[in-house]
Order: sequence, then structure tokens, then C-alpha cells
Amino acid sequence: GRRKLVVGNWKMNGLRAQLPEIAAIGELAGQHPAVEVGLCVPATLIEAASGVSGAAFIGGQDCHQKASGAHTGCVSAAMLKEAGAGWVIVGHSERRMDQGETDADIAAKALAARAEGLKVILCVGESLDVRDAGNAESVVSAQLLASLPEGAAADWLAIAYEPIWAIGTGRIPTMEAVETMHVALRAALATKIGAEADGMRILYGGSMNGENAAELMAIADVDGGLVGGASLTAGKFAPVIAAA
Ligand code: 13P
Repeated sequence: GRRKLVVGNWKMNGLRAQLPEIAAIGELAGQHPAVEVGLCVPATLIEAASGVSGAAFIGGQDCHQKASGAHTGCVSAAMLKEAGAGWVIVGHSERRMDQGETDADIAAKALAARAEGLKVILCVGESLDVRDAGNAESVVSAQLLASLPEGAAADWLAIAYEPIWAIGTGRIPTMEAVETMHVALRAALATKIGAEADGMRILYGGSMNGENAAELMAIADVDGGLVGGASLTAGKFAPVIAAA
């Protein structure tokens, strides 16, 4: 079976003042060894967070697709790795929108991360317009296949399905809609990577919290969560981890 993966995405939140919170989340991870727990923190916090995170891994939230060079303000996969990251998120909808990242950019970022030995969470998800038009599964499946790096394999890559309209809104799809999407995404993966798709974790993200996590993660093809707001404190994150 697929080990559940529960990852906090701290987005642009987190200063050294939050290190005790990270330590507390690391303790939670230690109490739930059956679950793989991590926190993707701002790049500036990776090194300090790695020192206190215990059983929780620390990850980055993006990396550049190039190994080095004239890219002011960007961070390479090797930089994340050296600071203590084991994972990195690529293709989050906030970056697809705010930074104009394309599917091709995201596949290249995943490959760059892999080349440095980082594991990768690749995010996909539909807008509300697409959901309302009734073709979310085909649109997100196409997005996934277009962002999927060469050599995608379950031992270094996980997918996060995050409907954009569910992020930070308190709204989530119906359980049936989540199940339909996750089944569709695994089928799409199988067209490209065959049986390897069976082992690949597909996380749900978007307003996951202590109230809804158990129901979401009980869905057969939901292999964990990518959690924003509810990962910012150990108190809020604890019931999500416990639900996995
Ligand atoms: P929220 O859990 O705050 O909705 O954020 C989800 C998300 O975007 C995680 O990457």
C-alpha cells in the first residue's frame, strides 16, 4: 500500500519565532510513524527548521529549473538541498498564477529537483470556471500529463490535487468529486508510467483541516494531504496528521 503523506505548505509565512511550532510538529510526526509528515517552509527558514523538525521532513516551495546562473531572486534545487530540504513543491497554483509558470517550466523544475536528490510534490488543479463547466477531470489530467517530468516514479514524486477554488476558502469539493478526480488522475498517470502509477501518492489539498481530513483521507485514492492554513500551528495540524 501507499504510505500516507501529509505535508504542510507554509507559503509566505514563518520566521524564526515559529521554530518552536516546527519542533512541536516534528514531535507530532514522531508520534505517527506510519504517516510521512513534512513541512514546506520559506527558503529562508529551511536551515533553521531542519535543525528542529525531528521526524518531520523539511521541504522548499519552489526551485528554479536551472542549476545556477543569472536568475535574480531565485533558488536552485542544490541550494534547497544544502540548506536541509528533502522535498520541494513545484507547480503550486499560486506560482502558476503569480509567477506565470507553465507546465513545461514545472516539469523542468521537477527534473532539476530530482537531479539534486530532492523528492517532489507536483501540484495540479482546476479553476472554478473549469469546475463549473463540468470538465475538471479532463482539464486536470491534461495539466498533469503536461507537467509530469521524464522518469516520474513513485519513490521520488507525489502529486497534489488542489482545486484552486478550494484553496484558503473553506470550500471543498464533494467527497464523490474528490474520488472521481483522484481515480482520473491515477488513470492518466498510468497512460504514461504504467504500473508505476499504482504506487504514486496523490494528495488532496485545499481547505483540508481537522474537521474534514478523516473523510477526505478515507477515500481510496487519496494518499494524504497538502495543507496550508491548518498546518501553521501544531494544534491545528495535529488532527490532520492523526486522521491520515
Ligand atoms: P489551504 O489549506 O490554506 O486551503 O491551502 C492549501 C494549499 O494551497 C496547500 O498547498
